[in-house]
Amino acid sequence: MLHSIMGNAIEINNVSKIYTKVKALDNVSFSVPEGVLYGLIGPDGAGKSTLYNILTTLQHPDSGSAFVAGYDVVKERKEIRTEVGYMPERFSLYPDLTVKENLEFFASLFGVRVKDNYDLIAPVMAQLEKFPNRRASALSGGMKQKLALGCALIHRPKVLLLDEPLSNLDARLRLQTREEIRRIQKETGITTIFVTHDQEEAMSISDMIVVMKDGIVQQIGKPQEVYDNPANLFVAKFLGTPPINVFDGQIRDERLYIGEDAVMELKNAENREVYVGIRPEGFLLREDGPFQCGLSGIEVMGRDISVLCTNKASLNPTVRAIIGTENNINIEKLSARFALAPHKVFLFDKETEKKAEFDR
Ligand code: ADP
Ligand code: MG
Repeated sequence: MLHSIMGNAIEINNVSKIYTKVKALDNVSFSVPEGVLYGLIGPDGAGKSTLYNILTTLQHPDSGSAFVAGYDVVKERKEIRTEVGYMPERFSLYPDLTVKENLEFFASLFGVRVKDNYDLIAPVMAQLEKFPNRRASALSGGMKQKLALGCALIHRPKVLLLDEPLSNLDARLRLQTREEIRRIQKETGITTIFVTHDQEEAMSISDMIVVMKDGIVQQIGKPQEVYDNPANLFVAKFLGTPPINVFDGQIRDERLYIGEDAVMELKNAENREVYVGIRPEGFLLREDGPFQCGLSGIEVMGRDISVLCTNKASLNPTVRAIIGTENNINIEKLSARFALAPHKVFLFDKETEKKAEFDR
């Protein structure tokens, strides 16, 4: 029975899944409109694979409902569906079949022919074309993963569900393959959920990201919007390379203090303790800047300079600022002074760790 989904190819409503000791999913809800790529991200144990398994009917939630391409995946547990392409975290190929035979097998499952759809997967298969007759068991981990991706796409699905599809590829192939997935997705308009623990990967190819932790959706939004406006300290820390710097701070007399330095004016803010998150690119090297840090070294990274600092109020041993190579930084000095770019500074409530709004 087809469920009407109003332009959403995937709908997840209040899905929960509890194991004996852990809540793997806690009331998860979101919808994916047709043709859109959602990056589902979170650290290990966030519940990503559990949600993937539910969407692919491998697991059953304790409560809630979910629909994929019009099918109720909780009630109608039909694993092979022509509308959907799957690639689980531990995907399976037929080890004794060759590259070509594996593709043919998966195509036949869906009643299609490899040659009719090969154009779609050709970019993904490029490196594998050199050895069409090699058995899957003899391929490297990365090539197996590419073949599995080809098998997931060979029947031109309308919805694509991928759980950590690039984890076995080396850095360069990872970058290349994620761009291929994005290009195929855009060209064909396949609605996609792309599960990854790698925030950078998700940020770079997703239309929208869903950030999860401990089975709970923390925030949903466009990658840049979530980066620029994180809902809480966890999201702020999870997104961004290098990561955000976090300090203990105080609001006193409408000023934000980090240690003894009054780093910013805060109109109408009440006196209280806060966590202060400062993105590495929010530090502006200024001789008369209000924020002083100890200088422990620099790393020149081609396009910009990473300045390694220390500060007593920092929650991490190293504070990392990213500045342009046009800056002249004297590493003989023991300290550096910074002004802060206001839109790169976030305050978080010390108890709830939610982002606190304030006038700047
Ligand atoms: P992720 O894919 O985000 O790393 P998972 O969905 O695999 O997370 O796991 C979410 C949580 O559920 C983890 O704490 C994990 O240990 C737990 N979990 C997953 N599968 C089982 C299981 N079969 N039995 C008990 N706990 C499980
Ligand atoms: Mg997982």
